[in-house]
Amino acid sequence: MNVEGVLVRIGVKPNTDFLKGKVPLDNRGYILVDEKLATKAPGVFAAGDVRAGSAMQITTAVGDGTVAALSVEKYLLK
Ligand SMILES: Cc1cc2nc3c(=O)[nH]c(=O)nc-3n(C[C@H](O)[C@H](O)[C@H](O)COP(=O)(O)OP(=O)(O)OC[C@H]3O[C@@H](n4cnc5c(N)ncnc54)[C@H](O)[C@@H]3O)c2cc1C
Repeated sequence: MNVEGVLVRIGVKPNTDFLKGKVPLDNRGYILVDEKLATKAPGVFAAGDVRAGSAMQITTAVGDGTVAALSVEKYLLK
């Protein structure tokens, strides 16, 4: 093919190996969270592309940051 450029999409892999056995992950390695972005591990929250079910967009990552920060605040005040 005669083209001027190529963008190779090789896929993505979450960098969560260090969490294995500590925080529940799905079968692709994404962090499982509830609607407050809390994991099953007390005090551990996940936001952005790394969490399971993310739409993987900048806007959703930013929104997750807000939700997670509020959840962390509530957790710390408890
Ligand atoms: C090619 C491409 C094009 C895209 N285009 C768009 C677009 O047009 N519009 C859109 O909305 N979204 C787009 N996205 C998606 C968008 O970039 C992501 O949804 C967004 O960046 C997710 O933000 P995040 O903070 O969750 O993760 P990231 O931006 O990936 O940030 C995670 C950070 O954590 C760091 N990190 C990883 N492991 C560790 C560790 N163990 N310790 C410390 N730090 C660590 C990484 O170095 C990185 O800086 C695109 C993504 C790609 C790859």
